[in-house]
Amino acid sequence: MNDHTDTHILDYIAVGVGPANMSLAALAHPIDGLRSLHLERRESFSWHPGLLLPGATLQVSPLKDLVTLVDPTSPFSFLSFLAAHGRLYRFLAAQFPAVLRAEFNQYLQWVAGQLPALVFGAEVREVDFHSGAFRVRTAHDESAARHLVLGTGPTPNVPVQFREHLGKTVFHSGEFLPRLPDVTGLRVAVVGGGQSGAEVVRHLATAPAAPATITWISRRPSFQPMDDSPFANDLYTPDYVRRFHALPADEKARLLELQTLTSDGVDLPILRDIHQLSYRADFLDGTPGRLRFLPDTDVTALDGTDGDWKLTLDGRGGDTPAVVGADIVVMCTGYGYRIPDFMAPLLPRLDRTDQLLDVQEDFSVAWDGPDGHRIYLQNGARHAWGVADPNLSLLAWRSAVILNSILGETRYPV
Ligand SMILES: Cc1cc2nc3c(=O)[nH]c(=O)nc-3n(C[C@H](O)[C@H](O)[C@H](O)COP(=O)(O)OP(=O)(O)OC[C@H]3O[C@@H](n4cnc5c(N)ncnc54)[C@H](O)[C@@H]3O)c2cc1C
Repeated sequence: MNDHTDTHILDYIAVGVGPANMSLAALAHPIDGLRSLHLERRESFSWHPGLLLPGATLQVSPLKDLVTLVDPTSPFSFLSFLAAHGRLYRFLAAQFPAVLRAEFNQYLQWVAGQLPALVFGAEVREVDFHSGAFRVRTAHDESAARHLVLGTGPTPNVPVQFREHLGKTVFHSGEFLPRLPDVTGLRVAVVGGGQSGAEVVRHLATAPAAPATITWISRRPSFQPMDDSPFANDLYTPDYVRRFHALPADEKARLLELQTLTSDGVDLPILRDIHQLSYRADFLDGTPGRLRFLPDTDVTALDGTDGDWKLTLDGRGGDTPAVVGADIVVMCTGYGYRIPDFMAPLLPRLDRTDQLLDVQEDFSVAWDGPDGHRIYLQNGARHAWGVADPNLSLLAWRSAVILNSILGETRYPV
């Protein structure tokens, strides 16, 4: 093991290189003398590759990139990326209603290639604190730092009734593209009525190798659009989230429930596409019932064997069947935050209220370690910061808050 911990204590180590910690690296890059390491387990950067479907688009403005809303002059902005690739005029002329996720992924890869603090192929196995520093261990190395930044991203939610069947024909949407077999003529059930569910349904319904049936099941009372209106967008601003952070916990929980559709609803154009695809199947293509919609329905059990599944349904709508058969089950059941396993040695030292981490105004988690050593949490505190926390909207701002806290000065205005 290559141990350089005692002679070389960095300012911070960030774990995970998704957009959150990459934003931090991009804003940290121009700061002279700030020494950091960003460790990522993947061999190279890729943004949710399992759902990088050809027509998928960004759900926010591309100005909500890694840096612009904090430093519009940064060389790591989406506009700089377009300029560097000679695409500015073509991009404007093309008039995309929203930026393609494939292009935003290219942008993120382009930034990743310019930041020397990022290290790929470095899975963090354990983090502990002793001798005045965080000790971060990967398979090959151990490094030490004054502060730690967790940016390991969301974990797929797999409801308990599906867990024992996970495999070739039952999988989470995060693995959709690598797992998807030839579905020609098969029955596919898509569980979950949010954005991922809608993207998967539209993709399957337009695929050249088409399934015989697609059944879309959702707990929500209908397949609901995202609220992208101006007042909903106000919830995704620093001013609002600061106010939210100061509210009592029960009020936060109430608002989170009420505000769900500002982040977890479906892009309206996709709902339109799906509705029109269903119309065509029923009335023009001679395949009536090929798309079937079961809102207001819970899947209470999954039984059967590989490729011949029975989903037991509890539907509140009048015509929901008790059981639906499927060859393939795609769970579009979203994501949640889980404290990563590598934090086990520090887990008992983190402060919580009702099992939820106490995350402070500078995004550090309250813990019983010495002053001057903080554990910052990116994208893991929806309960504390509101619906914007897992979203791209406040990426640059949150990174700036964290950097200012690490530096002990206002390097970036927030
Ligand atoms: C398909 C999809 C589309 C989305 N589209 C949008 C959108 O359009 N607009 C929007 O606002 N939000 C969107 N989101 C929500 C959110 O912006 C993204 O999930 C975003 O990628 C979160 O960034 P992150 O850096 O927190 O986590 P991630 O992107 O998940 O990155 C975390 C990284 O940590 C790494 N990691 C985990 N454990 C370790 C370890 N032990 N050691 C080293 N590395 C580790 C992982 O490999 C991963 O690369 C989308 C989410 C999904 C799933």
